[in-house]
Amino acid sequence: MVRLEDIIDRVAAYNPSADTEIIKKAYVFSGVVHQGQTRLSGEPYLDHPLEVANILTALKLDVQSVATGLLHDTVEDTHTTIEKIEETFGPEIAVLVDGLTKLSRVTFDKQEDHEAENFRKMILAMGRDIRVILIKLADRLHNMRTLGAMPPEKQKMIARETLDIYAPLANRLGIGWIKTELEDLAFKHLEPEKFANLSERVAQEKVVRENYIEHVKVMIEEKLKEHGVQGEVTGRPKQLYSIYKKMASQDVNFENIYDIIAFRVIVKTVKECYEVLGITHSAWKPVPGRFKDYIALPKGNLYQSLHTTVIGPYGVRMEVQIRTTEMHSVAECGIAAHWKYKEGKGGEGKDTKNFAWLRQLVEWQRDLKDSDEFLETLKIDLFPTEVYVFTPKGHIKEFTAGATVVDFAYSIHTDVGNRCYGARVNGRMSPIKYQLRNGDVVEIITSPNHHPSKDWLGFVKSPRARTRIRHWIKTEERQMSIGLGREICVNEFAKHGLDFPKLLKTGEMEKTAKDGFGLQGVESLIASVGYGKISVAQVLGKLLPPEKLETKYNLAVFKRVLDKITPRGKKEKSPVIVGGAEDMLVRFAKCCNPLPGDEIAGFITQGQGVAVHSKGCPNMLHIDKDRRIDVAWDKKEKTTRPVKIDIVCRNEKGLLAEITNAIKAADANISSAEIKTSKDNKALCRFEVEVNDAAHLKTIIKAIQKIKNVTKVERVRKDVSKDGETEAIP
Ligand code: MN
Repeated sequence: MVRLEDIIDRVAAYNPSADTEIIKKAYVFSGVVHQGQTRLSGEPYLDHPLEVANILTALKLDVQSVATGLLHDTVEDTHTTIEKIEETFGPEIAVLVDGLTKLSRVTFDKQEDHEAENFRKMILAMGRDIRVILIKLADRLHNMRTLGAMPPEKQKMIARETLDIYAPLANRLGIGWIKTELEDLAFKHLEPEKFANLSERVAQEKVVRENYIEHVKVMIEEKLKEHGVQGEVTGRPKQLYSIYKKMASQDVNFENIYDIIAFRVIVKTVKECYEVLGITHSAWKPVPGRFKDYIALPKGNLYQSLHTTVIGPYGVRMEVQIRTTEMHSVAECGIAAHWKYKEGKGGEGKDTKNFAWLRQLVEWQRDLKDSDEFLETLKIDLFPTEVYVFTPKGHIKEFTAGATVVDFAYSIHTDVGNRCYGARVNGRMSPIKYQLRNGDVVEIITSPNHHPSKDWLGFVKSPRARTRIRHWIKTEERQMSIGLGREICVNEFAKHGLDFPKLLKTGEMEKTAKDGFGLQGVESLIASVGYGKISVAQVLGKLLPPEKLETKYNLAVFKRVLDKITPRGKKEKSPVIVGGAEDMLVRFAKCCNPLPGDEIAGFITQGQGVAVHSKGCPNMLHIDKDRRIDVAWDKKEKTTRPVKIDIVCRNEKGLLAEITNAIKAADANISSAEIKTSKDNKALCRFEVEVNDAAHLKTIIKAIQKIKNVTKVERVRKDVSKDGETEAIP
């Protein structure tokens, strides 16, 4: 069991000027608040924070970190508050403890594999200060070492999380030994049988292997001496988990895993590294493709070393790693190796590019001039540009900092985004503009009647949301343009005798859109007409020769238009066939008032159907040729039409009765009569009579002409008072 004194001694060893009082104070505080608590293993709880603090000294961390190691579970597991910690230990330690308390509340349970990377990033982001992550790793390492006391399901869950999240984090931070130990411990609990089997196999050959290692070690040392190179040689079997992975991935037996032994040569200079490599390659045959120069090309976590595999003594493959003392320190402590520069003699002269990997990790923009600034930087947001939040089911999503509820909604599904009108964030109602924060649990609320608007573009952050909102707005505008464009095309085409819907069906319009305008398809063409980018005249110009651009209406099309404008329930039999079509809304021009049997002409009015005039009616002369249409009387339809007859006669008694009798005798009704008399004893009579057709009228007129004292009988052709007006039929 680790004692406080051991911890303080270790800190003093790597940082003689450190003020260790705060570590003692933390120990006492932790002892008091955890008093009476035991771990599942039955040991006093305080053992755990002590072990964690001890691991932190192995990373050579500062006193604040070591003190935090002692305090890390106090807020989570006792009645202590973060305020109390701050009051007692100051803000720096309080921030670290708070970070660990928050991290202890997130677990990577029931997650998808591909979410592991986001989870790792979220942990880094939630940590804010890299020391929080290092303490978390130390905490996890000790928990893994004592995992056996947990119930089996819990063991598996924690082991899985360790393998998925914390071992890769340790690797990314460059702490090789923590990564290795975490992996082996996780392997042990996840695959207990395979682990036992493999460790037994490795143990069986322990003596043989140890002899082999000792033998080869001496051989290497002698060869170094021959060449005048000073170096420290060590040999050890490779990590169990990496042997297991190799067996699994290459599908080979344990017997075939020769290179389970790795030798490490630590020298003083880079030059010597390459010398040792040359010595190794001249002594043993290198295995092709296994040489890696991580000195010239360091790993992302700043790891540097030369790796090679050779066919060693007795034909056994062995890996040799060659590095300098400094490289070795980085390989062991990773990021923590840099603390030495701050707490030791200062970091002047240290190449700032040493921190390049960390810069890459946290994606920060500014240059780091010295290690003080480096440490300062660690205390601010590690991922200022990213934010990680949970779905209600516990899945993690990554966003650009400043992302809102709308960004989240679009990340789920376009439809969710398009109908999003708010969210429950951590159970609380929040508006669509709410900016997401690390660790938020977000549940989107949608409404089928809610739609994106242009203002959304003002606050969304993700390209996905932006694209989808723009797309929605564009589609909406397009739908409107297509509706309008289609209406314009149908009407304007009809004026030129073209059936637009039919041309659509036959593919003619599709062809015109592509060949004539270079558009993707006919929909684009219709939309362009709707937007007003392309005029109908341009479209018609592609379909008709210039002389035909003036043509008559296509009646079938026109009928559809008329059908639309004819009030429902008012469709009755019409005495006129418009073109070939029956039942169309027609009006008789009051100016000429044509009768069945008269020669007639039609023209299309603005929204009032077809006006029917007598052929030769002077009003027709003013009408646009384009609007003319063929009309004919429907001979099957019996109808009566009112017509006016002017009669001039002598003003004689009984004459009026004679005229009306004649009309009645001709089987026509009189609907009105006006009679004026003049001074010269003449009478001017105007009768309106209902006639079947022009022939019927002729019969009536002839009958009236036969009456004595009638001087003139005439059909009224033009009613001056109603010039140009038409009358609806019926
Ligand atoms: Mn703990």
